[in-house]
Amino acid sequence: MFDNEIRTSLFLWLKQREAQNGGIFSRDELVNDFSFNHQRITLIGPTGIWIPKGFQIPISITTTTNGPYDDGLSADGILIYKYRGSNPNHRENLGLNTAFLSRTPLVYFNAISPGKYQAVWPLFIMRNDPMNLQIEAAIDPAYSQQQYLPAIPETTEYNNESILSIRKYITSITRQRQHQAAFREFVLEAYDRSCTLCRLQHPELLDAAHITPDSDERGLPIVTNGLSLCKIHHAAYDKNIIGISPDYQIKIRQDILEEVDGPMLKYGLQSFEGNKIILPKKSREWPDRDRLAERYELFHSA
Ligand SMILES: [Zn+2]
Repeated sequence: MFDNEIRTSLFLWLKQREAQNGGIFSRDELVNDFSFNHQRITLIGPTGIWIPKGFQIPISITTTTNGPYDDGLSADGILIYKYRGSNPNHRENLGLNTAFLSRTPLVYFNAISPGKYQAVWPLFIMRNDPMNLQIEAAIDPAYSQQQYLPAIPETTEYNNESILSIRKYITSITRQRQHQAAFREFVLEAYDRSCTLCRLQHPELLDAAHITPDSDERGLPIVTNGLSLCKIHHAAYDKNIIGISPDYQIKIRQDILEEVDGPMLKYGLQSFEGNKIILPKKSREWPDRDRLAERYELFHSA
């Protein structure tokens, strides 16, 4: 087995996929889509610690956490992961120990809803703790911002403060990215993967727009602060060319309504004047009226 080469190739694959899927991986793609030398390698399995066929060392560990924004990491970016069962000599638990001793990086999958996972890599096991039937792992700051390089530094000393502060920084960036990815996933899901204005159904052209902006501390990544919008309508909403009233009516800015131009202006913008947005099926996922009202004020004053 070319364990190192496979992991290097896997990390590249994850990065490429992340660009397409917005950081939310489906179980189906994790089971079926990765191959090395024309051989399919499953990245996730029926057990939390997954050792694919032919491997000695686990390729991934998976958790199911409480809600979309709980990534299972501590404030220091440390993941505490429980052994399988209570026998430290179980094959999967021994596999974790081998990963620890050989400093082999793993992928951490965090299930955010049935069949949907966030991925964090490369994850290194920093401590094996058979007494407490658990391991402690972290994203290595030296690798997280660059392509994984198989040459691993000599030191196993992760306790000094500078590394800790770098790790906190990396963790906060990782968290931010994951929260954005989860936000997008939940908003698009609520709106049936279509633009709330024009119904366009191509996820690659859809965004989860914030109503109360991200830059505002109240701009929480929650579904009721989101709108599923295609790229053009997202940009138009952000630029106050489109307004959405608290009773879900679409308004187009006056000067844009009066303009005469081609089909994008006519059908893409002007034709929506006075329409209602298409709301999520579940009323608890409808956009928050107070947030819409506040944002609508801005549209009016623009
Ligand atoms: Zn649209």
